[in-house]
Amino acid sequence: MLAECNRNSLKNYIINLEVTNKCNLNCFFCRAEANKHLENELTKENIYDLFKDLKKMGVSHISITGGEPLVRKDLPEIIDIGSKMGFKFSISTNGTLIKTVPISMLKKIKPIRISLDAARAELHNKMRGSKDAFKKTIEGVEYLVSHNIFPLLRFTAHRGNSMEVLPFIKLASGLKIKVIKINRIIPILGCVFNAKEQLTPKEYKTVLVRASNVAKKYGIELSSDDPITFKLFKNVKNCKFGGCAAGIVHIHINSRGEIFPCQYLPIRLGSIRKDKIYNIIEKKDIRNFFTNVRFNIQGKCRSCSYKMLCGGCRAAAFSVRENLLDADSMCFN
Ligand code: SF4
Ligand code: SF4
Repeated sequence: MLAECNRNSLKNYIINLEVTNKCNLNCFFCRAEANKHLENELTKENIYDLFKDLKKMGVSHISITGGEPLVRKDLPEIIDIGSKMGFKFSISTNGTLIKTVPISMLKKIKPIRISLDAARAELHNKMRGSKDAFKKTIEGVEYLVSHNIFPLLRFTAHRGNSMEVLPFIKLASGLKIKVIKINRIIPILGCVFNAKEQLTPKEYKTVLVRASNVAKKYGIELSSDDPITFKLFKNVKNCKFGGCAAGIVHIHINSRGEIFPCQYLPIRLGSIRKDKIYNIIEKKDIRNFFTNVRFNIQGKCRSCSYKMLCGGCRAAAFSVRENLLDADSMCFN
């Protein structure tokens, strides 16, 4: 997630709302560890109360995530109420359940971000821990396109799939996809597996450059949420402050109502079950705290002239020594 310049008031926050931790797949790199069943997830009523508080903040955009958000049976009702309150929704999904939910709900969500890790069923299914995930996801994409909804495809590059990126773009073109996002696997504190799966900075840059060249040929827009890609994708425009959005314009609320600066950054800021979200943000001065992190960042980032436009991924940096001020070791700039 990128800060994209505007960080002046509570209304600029983009809320990442995890509506459930449950998932129908078992991906090896899952941040949510979604095969774990959690008690005490937010009810529909809790979410409506949250919507009222977000309205008071002036928030306009809610990004729905999980687990797999489409396993939540009351999601159509939640999106319907939220849309009537004026919120714009986007969603991140594995795409396998697209055909099981009402198209009327899907039409209210933009963009629909679908994760696909390979152009080959065998590889995608292995990474997703399911023998028919690929088939169902492709069917989901085709179903959306047949209804004139063009999802955004997400490719998370790591050691096991980096060789797949070019066939992946070709596949996306065949599916009439217009936008692809490529990100790296984010090492999460305590997750040795994700750390081992990371590409080297040089390998990562090579994947991005090749993908960018091929995407151009197919007329596909390629971008990334990763701050260190700003030179390649020019994703920060005409502003003095951008890059990592954690806590600055981005807040994650997990399925039990706990608040974090980003879904990958395990720094708990409070709970919407104990206090109003705006009180938590203001009492703890979250935006200033994370802006100051940027000013005080260390290592290679400290003297970098791009520090205000990038700042590296704070979650990736934090995962190594639990120090928010560390440099992002994946930087290839
Ligand atoms: S050194 Fe840090 S701030 Fe500079 S480009 Fe690299 S990750 Fe970004
Ligand atoms: S910590 Fe990383 S994943 Fe989270 S907002 Fe910053 S760049 Fe994005």
